[in-house]
Amino acid sequence: MKTQSFTFLLTVLLAVPAVVQGQGQVPAPPPMHNTDGFTNTPIVPGTQWHVHDPNRPQPELVTPGNFSTQESPGKPPSDAIVLFNGTDVSEWRDQKGEPALWKVEKGDLVESKGDIFTKKEFGDIQLHVEFQCPPPKGHSQERGNSGVFLMGKYEVQVLDSYQNPTYADGTLGALYGQHPPLANVARPPGEWQVYDIVFHPPHFDESGKLKSPAIATVFLNGVLIQDHQTYDGPTGWKILGHYSPQPATGPISLQDHNNVTHFRNIWVRPLKAAE
Ligand code: MG
Repeated sequence: MKTQSFTFLLTVLLAVPAVVQGQGQVPAPPPMHNTDGFTNTPIVPGTQWHVHDPNRPQPELVTPGNFSTQESPGKPPSDAIVLFNGTDVSEWRDQKGEPALWKVEKGDLVESKGDIFTKKEFGDIQLHVEFQCPPPKGHSQERGNSGVFLMGKYEVQVLDSYQNPTYADGTLGALYGQHPPLANVARPPGEWQVYDIVFHPPHFDESGKLKSPAIATVFLNGVLIQDHQTYDGPTGWKILGHYSPQPATGPISLQDHNNVTHFRNIWVRPLKAAE
C-alpha cells in the first residue's frame, strides 16, 4: 500500500514540471493526411529527406507570447522604407510591371489576383511583415497559403500551420522545400502574426561561380525560427534549389496562392555592410 502511494506521488511530482512549463497548452495537431507530402522527389542535400517528405520530423510546437492583435507590434523605424501602410499599393507592381491588383480593405492588403512585387529592388535587408490567415478551409498546403519571396526567388513560407499538419519543409516559416522552421509558432487563423526577417543575397564571382549563398534569419511572432540559415538556391515546388548568376538586387514579392491572406505594416531597411 505504502509502495503504491509512493509510486503515485512520484508520478505526480514528475508530471508537474511538464505542466508548469506549459507543455499542455498546445493542443496536439490532427493526424497528417495521407497525401500530404511526396517521397518521389529529390533528396534535400545534406539530409536523408525527400523534398516535401511527409516523414521529415515536424517542427516543435511553441506557443508565442501574447500581444494585442489590435495594435501593430512593429512600427517602422525612422530609416525604414514603408512598403504598405494601410492606404494603397503604390509601392507594388504585378509580374509584368503593371499596377498590382491586390485590394486594400479596411487598411489591410488582401491577397488576390497574381503575385505582387515591390517596385524598388533590394539586396541585404531587414524586413517586417504582418499577416493574418483566413478562416480554415481545406487542409495542408491549401490553407492560408501565401509567401514572402526575397529577391522574388527565395520563399519564406506563409501558411496557416495552426492545427494543420503538412510536410515539414512547407510549414509556416519554412524556407520552402528546403529547411523547416526550428519551431511551429503559428497563431490561430484570424490573429495577426509577425515576421521579422534578415536576408543576405547570394554572391557570385566574375565567372558566375557561387561565392556565398543566400542566407535568412527569421523571427515569427518574436521567436527565432530560422537561424542564419542558408538557402540551397531559389525555392520551388518538388524541386531542389540550384544557384545561377543573378543581379545583386531584386524585388520583395508576396505570393498569390488562391487564398485570402491579409497583410499589413510592411517595411524594409536596406542594410549597410558592417565596418
Ligand atoms: Mg507559399
